[in-house]
Amino acid sequence: MGKRQCLFCTNPAKTREHLWPVWILERRIRISPFNLRRRNRDSRQFDGDVVARCVCKQCNEGWMSEQESAISPLLGSLMQDVSLTLNKNQQHELTIWSVKMAMVWEATRAASGPKYHTQDIRTNYRINSMIPSATIIWLGRCNDSGLHTTIGDIQFNIRGTKNVSIVRDTCEGYAITLLIGHLVIQVVSITVPDEDQMFCEILLPSDLVGWDDHLVSIYPYRVNVTWPPQESLTYNVGAFSVLGLRDRWNPAIR
Ligand SMILES: [Zn+2]
Repeated sequence: MGKRQCLFCTNPAKTREHLWPVWILERRIRISPFNLRRRNRDSRQFDGDVVARCVCKQCNEGWMSEQESAISPLLGSLMQDVSLTLNKNQQHELTIWSVKMAMVWEATRAASGPKYHTQDIRTNYRINSMIPSATIIWLGRCNDSGLHTTIGDIQFNIRGTKNVSIVRDTCEGYAITLLIGHLVIQVVSITVPDEDQMFCEILLPSDLVGWDDHLVSIYPYRVNVTWPPQESLTYNVGAFSVLGLRDRWNPAIR
């Protein structure tokens, strides 16, 4: 085994760490009979706990541990199905934590290593709390309670608007879908082609429209966001499920 560097700094990553924070594991969320299933090489799905050698002791016991202590009252309430109105500070706390999860879970791609979040993006996140550009975060509520993660690459169309003529292009990105107790979080980060950086419109797949009643968006930040959304998701039954949410970005894995 080669030496692996910490995701967030230049130290070696020596110990295997739980990817779900220990305080969440200690809540002993009932894991519904969700079987571990890996769909394909680009999309990986996990139920329950996973360990990986991806961060150093200093990061793990330092800023990451402080972040968990700070988020646990808010996140713990949402996990346990407490309705809340989230102000911008709370949206920010959840955003920062969710982006960390997106980065840490990407380390499960052992064979090829992380693809989307570069060391620069992760270092900038640790030092400056920088959120990767073109990121959107949604929250939902699942009727079932569980501990589930899916990470994967996504692809969809963008339309450049800098020219009068309409230019279509395919855009790539990364999505993570988390179920933590009753709380569902989806983080989508998009790599926008350089020439369209300032002038593009993301063309959401048409079936994303129907999700409006089932999701609330917390990033980019809003004034106030009420959780849960009007409608809840199932885990895997019907049109609006956690697994459907995971798959909505990528026709290839439907
Ligand atoms: Zn580190």
